[in-house]
Amino acid sequence: MPATFSVCLLGLPTDEASSFARGAAEGPAAIRAALRSESSNLTTETGRDLGGAKSFEDLGDLELAGGAETRRAIERAVTEQLSEGARVVSLGGDHSVSYPILRAYGSAFRARGTPLTVVQIDAHPDLYESFDGDRYSHACPFARIMEDGLARRLVQIGIRTATGHQLEQAERFGVEIVPRAAWLETEALALEAPTYLSIDLDGLDPAFAPGVAHPEAGGLSTREVLEIVWKIPGLVGADVVELNPERDVGEITAAAAAKLVKELVGRLLEA
Ligand code: MN
Ligand code: MN
Repeated sequence: MPATFSVCLLGLPTDEASSFARGAAEGPAAIRAALRSESSNLTTETGRDLGGAKSFEDLGDLELAGGAETRRAIERAVTEQLSEGARVVSLGGDHSVSYPILRAYGSAFRARGTPLTVVQIDAHPDLYESFDGDRYSHACPFARIMEDGLARRLVQIGIRTATGHQLEQAERFGVEIVPRAAWLETEALALEAPTYLSIDLDGLDPAFAPGVAHPEAGGLSTREVLEIVWKIPGLVGADVVELNPERDVGEITAAAAAKLVKELVGRLLEA
């Protein structure tokens, strides 16, 4: 059955793979509340009204039973949308959700002969072999993604606390950690379509996104991330993860996340 809507939102309310502070499971609800808040509207920066015409569908939150079943449910749900021709913007949840999302996305695009370039905005590489004994921790998803060959390239922007182990892992998997001076030189990265964008909100500076479990000063501005959203070629999917409403200040982070989601939907509709 063809999808009625070409872009959908999928809430993934899970934080059991968080290594420090829980709370990201409340992220999808907070992003939706900010997106629907009457303090703003659903018009994107290119003037597309996402509220007027029914241009995207909110699939609501996935029911997640925990552990391996959570990962299976996410992979299944995303696979189903892709098979119907839809593009998915996933709302985290902690960053562990990106592994099952990319199991669906990476396999689908690899099977079509057009493997994905994945761009990750994050303060952390999330390349640990294992963290606190958990290979599916939110500190590990991109090690699993590279092991499974789900991305032709993984390009990481905003990284500012890579441990020695993670640098070794990056070397092992050929992950491109973009040096600080080149964070916004997206043209120079020569990214090839199709691309997938994973946005960990801690990639932003805590001044713009304080509501995360692992704030790391010295990050990107919301404006800079928006420029990447609009410049990245051939975008086919995205996730916005790690919003932790309990740690937010005046809903700044929820508003930033909702803004990113709105522009991502607009970008996907224009791709
Ligand atoms: Mn992070
Ligand atoms: Mn992350």
